[in-house]
Amino acid sequence: MGKSINYISTRGDSDTLKFNDVIFEGLAADGGLYVPEKWPTLSDEQINSFEEKSYNEIAHDVISVFLDDSISSQDLTNIINHSYSTFTNPEITPLRKFDQNNYLLELFHGPTFAFKDVAMQFIGNIMNLYLSRKQRQINILGATSGDTGAAAIEGFKNIDNSNIFILHPYNKISEVQKKFMTTVKSENVYNIAIKGTFDDCQSIIKTIFSDIRFKKDNNLTAINSINWARIMCQTVYYFYAMSRLDSGNKSVMFSVPTGNFGDILAGYISMKMGLKISKLNIATNENDILTRTLNTGIHDLRDVKTTSSPSIDIQISSNFERLLFDITDDTELVRELMSKLNSNRQYELSKEIVRKMQDVFTSHSVSQDEVKEIIYNYYRDYNVVIDPHTAVGIKSAQKCEEEFDIKVFLATAHPAKFNDTVSEIIGNNDYIPLKVKSMMELDDYYVILENDVMMIKKFLEDKIK
Ligand SMILES: *Cc1c(COP(=O)(O)O)cnc(C)c1O
Repeated sequence: MGKSINYISTRGDSDTLKFNDVIFEGLAADGGLYVPEKWPTLSDEQINSFEEKSYNEIAHDVISVFLDDSISSQDLTNIINHSYSTFTNPEITPLRKFDQNNYLLELFHGPTFAFKDVAMQFIGNIMNLYLSRKQRQINILGATSGDTGAAAIEGFKNIDNSNIFILHPYNKISEVQKKFMTTVKSENVYNIAIKGTFDDCQSIIKTIFSDIRFKKDNNLTAINSINWARIMCQTVYYFYAMSRLDSGNKSVMFSVPTGNFGDILAGYISMKMGLKISKLNIATNENDILTRTLNTGIHDLRDVKTTSSPSIDIQISSNFERLLFDITDDTELVRELMSKLNSNRQYELSKEIVRKMQDVFTSHSVSQDEVKEIIYNYYRDYNVVIDPHTAVGIKSAQKCEEEFDIKVFLATAHPAKFNDTVSEIIGNNDYIPLKVKSMMELDDYYVILENDVMMIKKFLEDKIK
């Protein structure tokens, strides 16, 4: 199916792969990330036809251009239908209008109440198909700042021939986020709390995956947002949202609360594929490295600050490398920048690169007080309860000087996931669904380990053999 796109590494020194291999790869062997060699495009006609199609039908058309002939059109339809049958809203990612020109794109109707379910449900099912054909086993290893892990566990808890190991920063994710992961009781699920930050967890994963031998011996596969298939699945809801807006020639901006740059990169890719979005706003909290990069060209790592929007409390934004590569088309430069980041904790982009980024992106950072104000105002004015990440997206978009006819805010999590923050601001718990309330009473299953790669490796080996 599709024209069998080749996938290459952003650092130019890894094997070229087809989809059926790229889905099992995390980091490329040269340390880079896989991207399509060339962006597939959809015609205007095809994009216009989405107005008449369901989410699942749009997903089929968008995803099929990235696949190879290992997946038939019917396989793809089955996987998509199965994946999104776990969503509680018939529109899958409904677009909610709350005043003249402003919309929420609600991405939290999946099993773990955050946008990551959109990709993870699909990935669990498509990997299951490949694994059952090859009779092989895989071991998923991932790091989470809260939401990825839960979504991945939900995606894989029923998949035969798989184990899933998820690292999260001990005591640095919300209680509800934790419960979504640690209350899943399944033989193949391992939750590991690391005494450190999310960046520490991510760095452990990177180190383990760079040990090619260990990775191979243990059949390790990544599913954090460096996995290409996640980005691919997320492009779908940009097409879906545009098809539900009567946008004509109107200018449309999407505002995306951004951490690892996966979600917003999917928006960028949808533009490359032919979707007419005017601007993408990189919404950041007080961890504003990407805002500073876009405004000054200087990308410098600072310490991670803990905020009320923990899923974007990061400094190392892995998928930004994919954008750097796409904008520069220069693997040597990407390698040089990444090596500088590694050794000097910073790099600087040329004015030309920054200008190219500014053609597509804007970026504004939002303080925790502003998050509170937005959550409160939206509740008061529209009777809409939003989560702190969504609030970052809204406030950040409000700071854009450029005018747009339509603004779409990605609602990346259900407010119940961050109820500590939200309830205190709006003064009630009425928005918390029963599912979450009863989950809070269940037992947790997790181990606590030191921030130490050797210990984690040993743990994996013990469980995998
Ligand atoms: C993961 C996450 C984000 C950030 O998405 P990236 O793809 O990492 O930029 C934003 N909001 C919520 C609720 C998330 O779970």
